Amino acid sequence: MTSEKEEEHDYLFKIVLVGDSGVGKSNLLWRFTRNEFHLDSKSTIGVEFATKTIHLEDGKVVKAQIWDTAGQERYKAITAAYYRGAFGALLVYDITQRASLENIPRWLRELREHVDNQMVVMLVGNKCDLRHLRQVEIEQGKKLAEEEGLLFLETSALDSTNVEEAFTQLIREIYRLMKKKAL
Ligand code: GDP
Repeated sequence: MTSEKEEEHDYLFKIVLVGDSGVGKSNLLWRFTRNEFHLDSKSTIGVEFATKTIHLEDGKVVKAQIWDTAGQERYKAITAAYYRGAFGALLVYDITQRASLENIPRWLRELREHVDNQMVVMLVGNKCDLRHLRQVEIEQGKKLAEEEGLLFLETSALDSTNVEEAFTQLIREIYRLMKKKAL
C-alpha cells in the first residue's frame, strides 16, 4: 500500500481498475502514482490502492484513491467491497490481446451491477507502445466507448503515453458531474 504525504483535500474519489489479468492495470497505477514501471509485476502481491492528489482549475483539491484488483480477477471473483463507493473506473484492455477487448462488455456489466449508473467509466486500450503486436485498432475501442457512453484513450504504462491524461480526464469528469448534480 502506498500513499503520498498527507495533503489537505476537498474531495476523495475512489476509482477502481477493472479488466483482464495482464492488461497492465497495476502498471497504470504505478506509473500514475509513483512514475514507476515493472516488467514482472505479478511476482509480488499487488497493492490494494494508492493515492494521488490532483489540483483542479478552480483551486479545489481532489484526492484520488485508486484501487487495484491485486490479481483477484484471475480467480473470477472480484468482491463487492472492491466496487463499493467507487466514483469512477478505468476499464482496461490490452491492444495486443483481442480477447481482452472482447471481455470488456462482461466487465462493464459487472461494474454496472455493483455500482450506481452515474459512475464515470473510461475505456483504456493499454500497451499502445507495442504497435507491431497490435490486434485491436484504435477505431474499435472508440466505437465501443461511443456505444456504451464511455470516455476513451489509448495508453502506454511503459512509455507514459496518456497515463496522466486518462486518470485526470476521469477525475475531471467525475467532478464536473458532481458539481452539476449539486446545482
Ligand atoms: P495487470 O495484471 O492488469 O495488473 O497487468 P500488469 O500491470 O501486471 O502488467 C502485465 C504485464 O504487461 C507486465 O509484464 C507489464 O510489464 C506489462 N505491461 C503493462 N503495461 C504495459 C505497457 O503499457 N506496455 C508494455 N509494453 N507492457 C506493459
